[in-house]
Amino acid sequence: MKEPSTKSLCPICGGKKTAGKTTYSVDLGFGIVVVRNVPATVCSQCGEEWIGAETARELERLVDEARQKRHQVEVLSL
Ligand SMILES: [Zn+2]
Repeated sequence: MKEPSTKSLCPICGGKKTAGKTTYSVDLGFGIVVVRNVPATVCSQCGEEWIGAETARELERLVDEARQKRHQVEVLSL
């Protein structure tokens, strides 16, 4: 995952980046974890998303917790 930078333009399409929310999901094999309301920088043109290092760490922690529960589908929110 890349660091967000709201100052620069989208490296893919050159569109404007805006602060927004995204939904993060990961497949753990036995099930999936979905995290909603994840703060992200989103390209207003192509929809590419960037998540900050701190947010990524928080997601990692949530995914670790979810992994231990071994639910088929775990839907969380940041
Ligand atoms: Zn873009």
